[in-house]
Amino acid sequence: MMDLPLNVDFTGKVVVITGAGGVICSTMARAFAQAGAKVAAINRTGIKVEKLAEELRAEGFICNGYEGNVLDEEGMKKIHEQILADFGPCDILINGAGGNNPRATTDNEYQHEAKPGQKTFFDLDMEGVNDLFSLNFQGTLLPTQIFAKDMVERKSGCILNISSMNAYIPLTKIPAYSGAKAAVSNLTQWLATHFAGTGIRCNAIAPGFLVTNQNRALLFNEDGTPTARSAKILNGTPTHRFVDSEELIGGTFFLCDDKAASAVTGVVLPIDAGFAAYSGV
Ligand code: NAD
Repeated sequence: MMDLPLNVDFTGKVVVITGAGGVICSTMARAFAQAGAKVAAINRTGIKVEKLAEELRAEGFICNGYEGNVLDEEGMKKIHEQILADFGPCDILINGAGGNNPRATTDNEYQHEAKPGQKTFFDLDMEGVNDLFSLNFQGTLLPTQIFAKDMVERKSGCILNISSMNAYIPLTKIPAYSGAKAAVSNLTQWLATHFAGTGIRCNAIAPGFLVTNQNRALLFNEDGTPTARSAKILNGTPTHRFVDSEELIGGTFFLCDDKAASAVTGVVLPIDAGFAAYSGV
């Protein structure tokens, strides 16, 4: 059981979470389930969310797993119908599917330091760039089209997108991921405005740097000391620390609670241990 940071009652609320098999969104799925919600966990690799749903149901919570690709319109429409039948209309949509793509990443921070054979800006793979933009931007827009329609009819609903630190100032090596997350922040403001008269609020969180199994080797040497990139992150964070996925729950619950955040729409909330606020000097 997770030690929930806020005592918000989501009993009966239908929470649809994409990318729910991942580090951040599986934590969110657990938190919402524990707070009483009916959680619909969607993931491209279905086995991840089926396992998660089984675990949560065994603990007495309500969760179903659905295999689906956020870029597959027909597939998402089918999942929408299935969730309607299983739980009813979506109250809270969390657009969590996203991430970087190594094909859209340079090997070096600076062009003048590139060595022969390394992937530079000029070698970025256009298909990789397109895939990355699709996943993060269209992958947020399309599920919103599908699930927010019911919200408009019901005159209430909440959408939470996931942006990133690189949306404020781009990080080196990842120009496409930075641009795509800036687009997600921008879309968050656009949706908040567009839906302003419908009772729907739309916000985002911008998580700081998490240590996950996927990036552990990039952040720490075998002896546990920080790698050069990791040291840069820590030196750029005034609190000199990483963020844990459970630390995203307080901000998530706040933004998704219609009472606490009734007048909050169109914001991107950094949950970053201070990274975005610090100039480094
Ligand atoms: P993750 O890789 O652990 O999880 C992403 C999940 O999305 C995976 O389970 C994957 O199977 C699923 N997925 C990928 N493509 C999909 C698709 N087309 N359709 C449906 N599901 C798909 O990533 P994470 O670290 O938990 O990140 C979640 C979100 O948070 C992403 O948007 C990411 O960009 C963002 N984010 C992560 C960090 C971080 O440090 N981990 C920081 C800031 C923002």
